[in-house]
Amino acid sequence: MNAQSSPSQCDAVVVGAGFAGLYQTHLLTKAGYTVRAIEKAPDVGGTWYWNRYPGARCDIESLTYSYSFDEELQRTWKWPQKYAEQPDILRYIQHVADRFDLRKHFTFGTTVESAHFDEKANRWRIRTSGGEELSSQFLVMASGCLSVPLEPRFKGLEKYKGPTYRTSRWPHEGVDFTGKRVAMIGTGSSSIQATPLVAKQAAHLHVFQRTPQFAIPAWNRHYTDEEIKQAHESYDEIRRLARQSEVGISYEAPSIGAKEADKESLRKQLEFAWQRGGYLMLAAYPDLVTDIESNSIVSEWVKEKIRARIKDPDTARRLMPQYPMGAKRLCVDTDYFETFNRDNVTLVDLRDSGIQEFTEKGIRLENGTEYEFDAVVFALGFDAMTGALNAVDIRGRGGLLLRDKWKDGAKNYLGVSTAGFPNLFIITGPGSPSVLYNMVASIEQNCEFTAQTIDYVRKNGYATIEAKPREEKAWSQYVDWISKQTIYTKVKSWYTGGNVGGKHVAFMPYAGGGLTYFEYTRQVVDNGYRGFKLAA
Ligand code: FAD
Ligand code: NAP
Repeated sequence: MNAQSSPSQCDAVVVGAGFAGLYQTHLLTKAGYTVRAIEKAPDVGGTWYWNRYPGARCDIESLTYSYSFDEELQRTWKWPQKYAEQPDILRYIQHVADRFDLRKHFTFGTTVESAHFDEKANRWRIRTSGGEELSSQFLVMASGCLSVPLEPRFKGLEKYKGPTYRTSRWPHEGVDFTGKRVAMIGTGSSSIQATPLVAKQAAHLHVFQRTPQFAIPAWNRHYTDEEIKQAHESYDEIRRLARQSEVGISYEAPSIGAKEADKESLRKQLEFAWQRGGYLMLAAYPDLVTDIESNSIVSEWVKEKIRARIKDPDTARRLMPQYPMGAKRLCVDTDYFETFNRDNVTLVDLRDSGIQEFTEKGIRLENGTEYEFDAVVFALGFDAMTGALNAVDIRGRGGLLLRDKWKDGAKNYLGVSTAGFPNLFIITGPGSPSVLYNMVASIEQNCEFTAQTIDYVRKNGYATIEAKPREEKAWSQYVDWISKQTIYTKVKSWYTGGNVGGKHVAFMPYAGGGLTYFEYTRQVVDNGYRGFKLAA
C-alpha cells in the first residue's frame, strides 16, 4: 500500500516519523488498525533526520538509546561506537523502517496543519499541507519534544551578507569552513558537540556565550567486536537493569546522598562517575536533583575538573557554570573545553555586552565592538515539549484550541492525554518523564500505552476516551509540586519554557522518575482507565 493512494478514512493518524511515530505505527498496524502517518521531512528519522551538524551524536549510550521491543533487532544491530554519531543513528532508524516495512504507511514531505475533533461523528478531521482531508478515530501526536527550532531573531540579520546555518537544519551535503572566520551563537548541547569540530576546520571561531554550561566528557570510543558480541548475548540483562532505574539507564550509585559521604569516599565516587563519563554524572549520588547542598558539593567538584581543562584563567572563569549542575540539561562533550585552548578560538562573553545587531559583515555588540565573519552558525535550541503541538491548529470539544487551553501551562493527564481532546494521544508529552528519561525507552512505554488503550476502547465498543478534568488537574498539580522539590526550577531553561519569549514558564516533564510513572500508568490501566472518561 502506498500512503499517497491510501484511504482518507482510517483508524488512526500518527504525526511524526522519529523513534516515536515509527514505533506507534508499527504497533497499531501490527494490531490490525489502519494508520495514516504523516511526516514533514522527506524521510524517517525525526531528530536524527534534521540535526546533522558536525559532532551530532547521542548522549546516552547507544546500546541503551535504541529500541528494545524486538529481540532479533537488538541482537543483530551493531553499534560502532559507545555514543553513535548522527549518521549511524539515522541508518539505524532507516533500517527499522525497512525491517518492519513502515514507510508504506507514511506520507512524507507533508505537514499536519490542523486537527479538529468532530463531536457528532466522534472523529478527528485532519488537514495536511498537501491539501488532503483525513478522518480518523484516533490522533497520535508523535511530533517530538525537540523538533521546533527557535528562529534567530536578531536585529539587522537580513543585512548580513554571509551564509548562516542552524545546527537543527544542517545542509545534507555538509559545510566546509576551511579558511573561514566563523561565529557560533549559543552554548547548549548542540553547540558543545559542534564547536570542537568547527574549530578544527575554521580559520577562526568566535563562540558567543550567554550562559556557560556544565559538560561532562563522553570518553567516546569504538566498541570492539568482542564487546558487541557480549552485549548481544546479555541484552536482556542490559534492558532489565535499565528498566530498574528511574532514568532508564543502568548505573551503579551509592545509596547515601553526596552531603552524607565522607571526604575520601566522595572523592572516589566522583572520580568513578567522572571516568564513567556522560549524563550519568548526575546520578553519581541519588540526591543530586533534589538536594541543593549535595548538588552544590558535586557541582563545585565538577567545576574544578572543568577548570583544569582550560589554560587561560580568565577564559576558564567565563566558562564556569553558575547554576546547579543538571538544572539545565547536562551536556556531554568531546574536547569542548580544550577547544578554548586553541589559538584560533575566542570566547565572547555576552554577559559583558549583548548582541546589538547584525551588520553586513558580522556582529556588533552593545558596547560597540564589531566582528567580521564569513559564516554564522546558530545553535539556539528549541521551543521544547509543547512547540510542535502548539504549531498545529488542534481543536477539541467546543472548538477549544489546544494552544489556548495551554497558554497558562500544559495541563494534561499522565502527559499522554488532555481533557476536552478525546482520542488524542501525545507521545512523551509534558507531564511524562520523557526528556528526563532515556527517550527511546520513554517513547516505547508511551506508544505501548497508547496502542493498548486504543485496543481497549475498540474492543469494548467505546467511541471515545479522554482525561477527566479533575484527574488532569490533580496530575498537573502533582507534576508541578514534584518539580518544585528539585533543582530544575532554579534556572531558566527549555525544560521550563523560559528559553522562549512569552511562553508560560513552568517545569514541563514529570520529575518523579520513570519507575514511579510506569507503575502509576500500569495501575491506571489495571483499574479500568482510572481518571479517563470512556463513552460509547
Ligand atoms: P522527533 O525525533 O523529534 O520526531 C518528530 C517528527 O515529527 C519530526 O520528524 C517532525 O518533522 C515531525 N513533525 C512535527 N510536527 C509535525 C507536523 N505538524 N506534521 C508533520 N510532521 C511533524 N534524547 C535522548 O534520550 N538521548 C540523546 O542522546 C538525545 N540526543 C539528542 C540530540 C539532539 C541533537 C536533539 C535535538 C535531541 C536529542 N534527544 C536525545 C531527544 C530526541 O529528540 C529524542 O531522543 C527522540 O529522537 C525523539 O523522537 P520522537 O520521535 O519523539 O521525536
Ligand atoms: P539549548 O540547550 O537550548 O541551547 C541553546 C543555546 O543558545 C543556549 O546556550 C542559549 O543561551 C543560546 N541562545 C538562545 N538564544 C540566544 C540568543 N538570542 N542570543 C544568544 N544566545 C542564545 O539547545 P540545544 O543545544 O540545541 O540543545 C537542546 C536539547 O537537545 C539538549 O538539552 C538535549 O536534550 C538535546 N540535545 C542533545 C544532544 C546530545 O548530546 N545528544 C545534542 C544536542 C541536543 P541561554 O542558555 O542563555 O538561553
